[in-house]
This record gives sequence, C-alpha cells and structure tokens, in this order.
Amino acid sequence: GYQRVVKENRKLYNMVQDLKGNIRVYCRIRPAFSAETKNVIEYIGEDGCLVISDPLKLQKDGRKNFQFNHVFGPAATQDDVFKETQPLIRSVMDGYNVCIFAYGQTGSGKTHTMSGSSRGSTKDMGINYLALEDLFQISNKRKDIINYVIHVQMVEIYNEQIRSCASENGLSLPDATMCSVKSTADVLDLMKLGEVNRVVSSTAINNRSSRSHSVLTVHVHGKDVSGSILRSCLHLVDLAGSERVDKSEVTGDRLKEAQYINKSLSCLGDVITALAQKNSHIPYRNSKLTLLLQDSLGGHAKTLMFAHVSPEGDSFGETVSTLKFAQRVSTVELGAARANKESNEVMKLKEQIESLKKALANKE
Ligand code: ADP
Ligand code: MG
Repeated sequence: GYQRVVKENRKLYNMVQDLKGNIRVYCRIRPAFSAETKNVIEYIGEDGCLVISDPLKLQKDGRKNFQFNHVFGPAATQDDVFKETQPLIRSVMDGYNVCIFAYGQTGSGKTHTMSGSSRGSTKDMGINYLALEDLFQISNKRKDIINYVIHVQMVEIYNEQIRSCASENGLSLPDATMCSVKSTADVLDLMKLGEVNRVVSSTAINNRSSRSHSVLTVHVHGKDVSGSILRSCLHLVDLAGSERVDKSEVTGDRLKEAQYINKSLSCLGDVITALAQKNSHIPYRNSKLTLLLQDSLGGHAKTLMFAHVSPEGDSFGETVSTLKFAQRVSTVELGAARANKESNEVMKLKEQIESLKKALANKE
C-alpha cells in the first residue's frame, strides 16, 4: 500500500513535468553592479513575461516583449532558482535524461547560476552542487527500494576539442574521467580539482573559461529490488559567452575561438529547434557540444535553458540577441491553444498529487 502510493505519487509528478513540455526556458537577470545603472528591465511578470527597453535610447525600436516559462529578476536567490529547477533534476532519478544549460554573454551570470560565486565555501552554491546534493538525498531515501550508483564527469570543450577537467594530467580519455561520487564532499573535491585545472589553462590563454563550454555530467545507475535497471544522465552546461566578436577587430587565435563558439552555439540552437519542430533529422553531428549532449537532448529527454542577461543599458544589443535566441528555443513547443488544455490537465494532476500526499500523511 505505502510503496504503491509513493510510486503513484512520483509517476504523477513526472506526468506534470511531461505536460509542461520537454523544452523550457528560464530567463535570469543578474543584479546591476552599480546603483546608478540605467536598467533595461521594464516589467517582469510572474507568468514569465518580460519587457525590456533601451535606457540609453540608442535604438529606434527600444521596447521589446518576451515570454518564457519563468523570469528570475535581480532579487532572485540561488535557492529560488533551484526550487524551480528541482522537479526536473529529480526526474533523473526516475530514469529521465536531463540537460540544463546556461546561455548568455560573458559577465551575465552563467557561472553564478551553475557553479555559484563563492569559491571554497558552500555558501551561494549553484545548481551543479545543489543538484548533486539533492540526488544523494533521494538515493538515500530510496535505498531500501533502489540501489543507486552515481558517477560524474567534467569536461571542457575548447575550439571543438573535448578535454577533461577532472583528470590530473588533462587527458581526454572518457573512461579515466568518470569519477564515482558517494557524497557532496566527494563532489566538492572534484569541483576544486576541475577549477584548478581550468585555472591552469587560463594562465596559458587569458580568460579562457568564457570561451569554452564546460560540461558536468552526472551518470545515474539504479537497480531496484526486482532487479530491473535504470540508467540516466544529467548534463549541466556552462556555455561559452555568446557575445558577438567584431570580426574587423579580432584576428588570429581570438578570431578562431569566436568562430568556433558561434558555430557550436548556433548548432545547439539548430538542434533544439529541429527537436521542437519534431523534424526527422536532428543535426547532432554538426558540433562536439551537441554530439556530447545528444543523449539528453530530444527523445524523452528534458531540456532547460537559462537565458542570462545583464541589466545594464550598454548591453542592450547583446541582451536582445540572447532573448531572441531563447525565444526561438522556447516558443515552438507550447502553442497558446494547447497551453490552456495543458494547464487544466496539470491542475487535475496536481489535485491528485495533493490527495495522495494526504493519504501518505495519514499512513505515517
Ligand atoms: P558569466 O559566467 O556569464 O561570464 P558570472 O557568473 O561570472 O558571468 O557573473 C559575472 C559577475 O556577476 C560575477 O562577479 C558574479 O559573481 C556576479 N553575479 C552574477 N550573477 C549574480 C547574481 N544573480 N547575484 C549576485 N551576483 C551575481
Ligand atoms: Mg563564466
């Protein structure tokens, strides 16, 4: 009885997630660095509506409307962001593949969202850490029913080359870079190692981290009491800065980097658009990034994109281009006509979940 209710409850949660669609987009606007900043934000709606305007009035058509699944304003905390992401992350423990990536220009807050800003302490940790902490908790809670084994892998893609961040010598052997983790302490150690490796490379090439994609992959393997096996993975991606580099100003290595970044980010956009349009051909093979993420983009996998923007007026052009990219990714799946029906079904399922929760509480 009890186990059945738990199982049923989880099934319903996953159905609610399914109905929300497999591709969703959250926008996050970081706080301004200075109180004097003329802000681009005009309106943030609880329903995911965002209106921005050009405070410097440099552009003729200076006001723009966007609609996302959620918008986090400058006051949103790491916890607020995590709470909104948690159900998706949890579905990994039920066998779903999930991909979460942070997109936006350099300095817009991608690393803050994914890794957090405070080095060496667990204060203000980002999604990477909070997700693993949550997965360990679930693994513990379910240990009498399912035996989970969790491995993580950290890689960086720079100029279309994949390189491991967690192996001591920087070798890119996929097997060698799979690390078994049993607790959040293991994860912290690994992240430190990854950071050290990235710092080493950033002295060689200045500020390299904003010009490479960094991917933390969590592999979950579970075996339940009946012997059936569950396998899934969660990709957590901090993308290279999406800013346009003025081709007339950069040459040599910088130009090459910029071209690689542009190419891989537009490939990512193409793959997501093709998925959302349910095309028969999905162009995964066009970049190392999409190839690496292939198993968690499309099919029954769930994708969440964080579109990061800066509030400053002088970033207005980049902000519009980030939001347009994000809008292209988000609109295709959820048509307005279907949204109503879906929200009705979501409501019904939520009611069922509530009644199951009550049934559970009575049992305990
Ligand atoms: P990116 O990775 O996109 O280049 P960062 O995450 O490094 O950007 O953010 C740039 C700066 O802004 C960092 O100093 C970071 O600590 C700060 N920052 C970003 N987002 C937030 C936020 N939501 N709250 C507070 N500080 C933030
Ligand atoms: Mg960064």
